[in-house]
Amino acid sequence: MKIVLLGPPGAGKGTQAKRLAQRLILPHISTGDLLRENVKHVTPLGKKAEDYMEKGLLVPDELVAEMLMRRFDSPDMKKGFILDGYPRNISQAKTLDEMLKKKDDKIDVVIYLDASERIIIQRLGGRLVCRVCGANFHEKNMPPKKKGICDFCEEKLAHRSDDNAETIRKRLEVYRNEVASLIQYYDEQKKLYRLSGDEDPELVLDKTVQLVEKLDDTFKV
Ligand code: AMP
Repeated sequence: MKIVLLGPPGAGKGTQAKRLAQRLILPHISTGDLLRENVKHVTPLGKKAEDYMEKGLLVPDELVAEMLMRRFDSPDMKKGFILDGYPRNISQAKTLDEMLKKKDDKIDVVIYLDASERIIIQRLGGRLVCRVCGANFHEKNMPPKKKGICDFCEEKLAHRSDDNAETIRKRLEVYRNEVASLIQYYDEQKKLYRLSGDEDPELVLDKTVQLVEKLDDTFKV
């Protein structure tokens, strides 16, 4: 099953996508994570993307599309995937459809995880990320067992450099400018399902799994 997770930064897409990927045994593809990897390793793509990311702006479509196309060519994509952070605009949604069409494939379901502004600001402000394994924590809502240390790989946790007040504001503005047309695009294709990201992450995960199981019997345990 090919699943897209849509929603504002801070709605919990990353957390849900990681957990859903484990439950359904599907690869999780986050364009944000892939771009951060490129920045970290100072690749040609990373060098081009870094400035946009620091400012909370979208990295040019063609750069992200090329990166995603390479990921889609991996053999682990056959059974499906959970795509998080892509598409961000209509042009990307159409590119995604074209990429999959070339493989005689399509997106099956789009889950729109919305969240209120109050929750978004609170979540992003306290978010802590492990730079080694990518696990997410939150200073208050989901603290690590040892302060500032990743539960899984014992590395130091850090705030994402784009999780500062000014960049958060810009990222939300960019998101709001594009989301309405994306919602309409997938609504018209009858692929869109809405869930509230304001709820407890465990509850959101249960609802998401129930939804996917209802749509595809092969995922029923
Ligand atoms: P995220 O981790 O999804 O919040 O993404 C972090 C940053 O990476 C965004 O603010 C953008 O600068 C960039 N980015 C991630 N996904 C995309 C995308 N699909 N298109 C363009 N830029 C992206």
